[in-house]
Amino acid sequence: MIRVSSVVSDTLGAELGLAPGHELLSVNGRELEDFLDWEFLTAEDQFVLLARDPDGTMVEYDVERPEGLPMGVELEPPRIRRCANRCDFCFVDGLPEGLRETLYVRDDDYRLSFRYGNFATLTNLKPKDVLRIIEYRLSPLYVSVHATDPVIRRRLLRNPRAPAIIEQIEGFAQHGIQFHTQIVLQPGLNDGDVLERSLADLYDLGETVLSVSAVPVGLTEFSKHHLVREPTAEECGAVAERVDAWGRTALGERGYHWAYGSDDLYLVAGLPLPPAERYDGFEQVENGVGAVRFLQQQIAEGRLDLASWAGTRVGVVTGTAMGRLMPAVLPVLARATGADVELLVVENDLFGSSVTSAGLLPGQTFREALRDRADLDVALLPAEAVNDQGMFLDDLSFHQLVAAVPMELRLSYHFADALGEGVGV
Ligand code: SF4
Repeated sequence: MIRVSSVVSDTLGAELGLAPGHELLSVNGRELEDFLDWEFLTAEDQFVLLARDPDGTMVEYDVERPEGLPMGVELEPPRIRRCANRCDFCFVDGLPEGLRETLYVRDDDYRLSFRYGNFATLTNLKPKDVLRIIEYRLSPLYVSVHATDPVIRRRLLRNPRAPAIIEQIEGFAQHGIQFHTQIVLQPGLNDGDVLERSLADLYDLGETVLSVSAVPVGLTEFSKHHLVREPTAEECGAVAERVDAWGRTALGERGYHWAYGSDDLYLVAGLPLPPAERYDGFEQVENGVGAVRFLQQQIAEGRLDLASWAGTRVGVVTGTAMGRLMPAVLPVLARATGADVELLVVENDLFGSSVTSAGLLPGQTFREALRDRADLDVALLPAEAVNDQGMFLDDLSFHQLVAAVPMELRLSYHFADALGEGVGV
């Protein structure tokens, strides 16, 4: 059963009289488990929907869908699949105590992998999930491989029951499912020869594996430092070299680079970021792979309406982790917009300076950094610092923050989203 949270007007859902609180039970007799069932089973021109209205009355709808009319039904969020692993580097262990409970949920959900590009490990799939992935052709999926050697992968995931990933991928490949993959680097465990084997194994799977990224593990003060450490500059340099070698091979044989390093990999290694062409279609940009070049390219290609920013003062507020990437971006932004762009790197004054992620900055940190900055016209804040309800980690709302500071605020993932529509929109 799934429940309606809202219905967009002038859609089929509204025409049927569906409303918040309606429980959607089945389509053509098939029970509805989540948004995947809903979207795939209602994609037909005709179907029978069984629902229960908020009063408990069962209603059967014989639906004929006029061409092009969307259902317009928003569903309550699905119950997230819990992770079966206990990676030493898990971001949940890296969180300070005292945050909202939902932040401590270790999610590992193939459905969100398909829908949002979240990386999943596929270690918690039940036979029924495998059948759904095949039936609904959930492709491409984003998978954390880390190592293709099953023993080493089980050690990395701290999960003795983790299935062999190559066999899993091969099984799905027979049904046309493709994968973007990542390898989070834990020095001494999955770099060096282990990494070489992983890259070779994934490359051997041909077009089934669309890309692989190498990402250095990121830790906080609260991580399990007795078990895991971040790679050094030399270690990242060695990985970048290996990834670049595979990139050259793939480019020669397949016409695209296939293997990519995250921006962090090059920055920690002290190497220049590769040019934009190195990232092909920027398939893993959300994973921090080519994010800087992507933004620069968007600006250079004039895809954004940036001219209206000329002469304004823009503050870019971020945490210390992202702060080191910004010098590669902000001058480009300043040139493209004609704005005076100022970087404000702030320390987390709720959890301590060792918590460097922009996504963990509380609202109060932004408020303190911005309350006396009437000289700024607009400040861009990391969008990942607020949840779906617009709340920061310390339960200050975005609207409360807006009221407490003297400039316009915009939430942004990569600047282009916040600045691209111009001033005053
Ligand atoms: S797969 Fe590892 S890092 Fe991801 S949620 Fe599970 S334990 Fe944490």
